[in-house]
Amino acid sequence: MHHIQYGTKQITFSIANRKRKSIAVEVHPDTSVQIKAPLDCRLEDIKRIVSKRSKWIITQQKFFEQFLPETPKREYVPGETHSYLGRKYMLKVIESEENKVKLQGGYLVAYSQDSTEENIKHLLTEWYYKRATKVFAKVYDEAFQKFNQYNIPKPEMQIKRMKNRWGSYTSSGNILINPELIKASSICIDYVFTHELCHFIERNHSKRFYNLLEKIAPDWQRWKLKLEKTI
Ligand SMILES: [Zn+2]
Repeated sequence: MHHIQYGTKQITFSIANRKRKSIAVEVHPDTSVQIKAPLDCRLEDIKRIVSKRSKWIITQQKFFEQFLPETPKREYVPGETHSYLGRKYMLKVIESEENKVKLQGGYLVAYSQDSTEENIKHLLTEWYYKRATKVFAKVYDEAFQKFNQYNIPKPEMQIKRMKNRWGSYTSSGNILINPELIKASSICIDYVFTHELCHFIERNHSKRFYNLLEKIAPDWQRWKLKLEKTI
């Protein structure tokens, strides 16, 4: 994301580099601004064009705004709570040269020079994803150990955004896991992996599937309920 200042307003835009000769400015119905630019285009040239078109961009955004639903909840502002591994943390934003996110003294602290909600959302999403990569690998290893006696090859784990599910398995033998799950406690993450691993022995949600799940994770219903409640 890039920005330019126009009077008191800030215009945020993204750049899509394409094989093309000229720079095109687009305002989308969600009021986002996208610049289509030649592959070797310099940022300062793009910024110059955006500046020149500022008035037009703002008129377009105002036009589209009237069709937008009520403004969404401002989740990425200080004071909002965010979950991580089953705990809630209040968000703090601290001005800093360096972009980073840290858990500090019970707070989730975002350090950045740019405190716009959009940038904070970007930073947090990136941080959650990085944490998910680390934590999931560890929890998955532990969950898989419970399947030692079944002699199944270890499916590859892939983090994938999914709309309505925490986990899934593919016909090619991979386990897909939703990065949003990093907001739930590790026992809930373990439950999702355990459930999916059971599918490598019993494909369908049959009686046999649930017997197996029960055997490997006798408390699974508790963790399922906890997962439904936490997020
Ligand atoms: Zn299932």
